[in-house]
Amino acid sequence: MSASVQSPSVADFRARARAWLEEAEIPQLPAGYEGKAQILREWHRRLYKAGLVGITWPSEVGGLGLGVEHQLAFNEELARVRAPQPVGSIGLEVVGPTILKYGNDAQRERFVRPLLAGDEIWCQGFSEPNAGSDLASLRTAGVIDGDEMVVNGQKIWTSWATDADWCAVLVRTDRTEVAHRGISYVLVDMRSPGVSVKPIVMLNGDAEFNELFFDDVRVPLTNVLGPLHGGWKLAMDTLGWERAGYSMRRRIENEVVFRDLLDDCRAEAEEFSDAQAADLGRVYVQLKAFEALAARTAARLAAGEVPTPLDSVDKLWLTRTEQALTSVAFDLLGAARMAPRDAGGRQRVKRFLYGRAGSVYGGSSQIQRTLIAERLLGLPRGR
Ligand SMILES: Cc1cc2nc3c(=O)[nH]c(=O)nc-3n(C[C@H](O)[C@H](O)[C@H](O)COP(=O)(O)OP(=O)(O)OC[C@H]3O[C@@H](n4cnc5c(N)ncnc54)[C@H](O)[C@@H]3O)c2cc1C
Repeated sequence: MSASVQSPSVADFRARARAWLEEAEIPQLPAGYEGKAQILREWHRRLYKAGLVGITWPSEVGGLGLGVEHQLAFNEELARVRAPQPVGSIGLEVVGPTILKYGNDAQRERFVRPLLAGDEIWCQGFSEPNAGSDLASLRTAGVIDGDEMVVNGQKIWTSWATDADWCAVLVRTDRTEVAHRGISYVLVDMRSPGVSVKPIVMLNGDAEFNELFFDDVRVPLTNVLGPLHGGWKLAMDTLGWERAGYSMRRRIENEVVFRDLLDDCRAEAEEFSDAQAADLGRVYVQLKAFEALAARTAARLAAGEVPTPLDSVDKLWLTRTEQALTSVAFDLLGAARMAPRDAGGRQRVKRFLYGRAGSVYGGSSQIQRTLIAERLLGLPRGR
């Protein structure tokens, strides 16, 4: 995924992205979830046509074949004009890299281009009502029947499932095996008979995640990614990309939120009190540390060294920084500016609440700490 000899420099690529974004009509998102996916899908397609999606993906599968630093420059430009991400971020950042790495030629041919183009949106069906942190205890079952697998069971907290075209589902296919063995990574068409989705309203009022039910859903065995019964390693890779790549992008977005907060505070008061300055200073230092961490992660990504247990450090730092930033915003701007009376207030409240979710999605903070203790520090397992 490194840049080729004829690749544009990062500066040239950034200038091209900036020029395009300055001309583009940036979509305005609705207050709630409804209608959001359609607007973002259109936005994704426009970005793809402009050559701004799939930046680090190989050109053979429809990407630009550029470097991680080109992707970061684009993320900075997108955040600078407060433009949303493409709708397919689960596909682009989480599931897609797994398909690219473990898919056979036919699977890469079938799935990657529509994912990059925004024609097919992905969701991730891992968590179940009784299998979240303890993911290996998942019970959604897949039984082989000829050249198909029949899937039954339930997933939960599946983000974007109402609008997704495909889902990467973890299925128990060998019940004679225990824990993480006997699990397969299966690509399921969300329009298959027997798939149903029931939205769950989040604390911020959006029905962004869902319950997902599989009732005798027939999936061709050609949609098993990687080895049958051998999906656990792929699942861990998927989670690693979620922790590292996602954190790197969110760092940039949080930087912009911090700059906006400073502007808001300046507009409110001529000068900052010592306590306000101290709060802002602390968050600034956290953001600077995050910048250094993200630079290291970018280097790891460029060298193909993601996923590793270091991804847990990124995820923890993202959570801590985002929560500190949104809490300080709450304290400094006060209840009046955080009230959901206008678009700005609504966005601030949502950001504050979504910041709390960081301790949970992609593996809870407790789980990240355990991974760091066991896999980075070599401490004995606690269980
Ligand atoms: C906004 C959001 C979006 C999400 N999107 C998706 C998605 O698209 N697809 C998907 O599959 N999942 C998704 N999830 C689900 C997420 O991955 C799970 O919620 C998470 O893994 C925790 O699982 P759980 O909810 O079952 O909590 P539990 O595992 O029941 O954990 C409850 C609490 O116990 C703690 N705990 C559990 N086990 C241990 C342990 N061994 N040691 C220490 N503490 C422990 C946890 O840290 C947590 O505080 C999403 C969650 C959120 C909040």
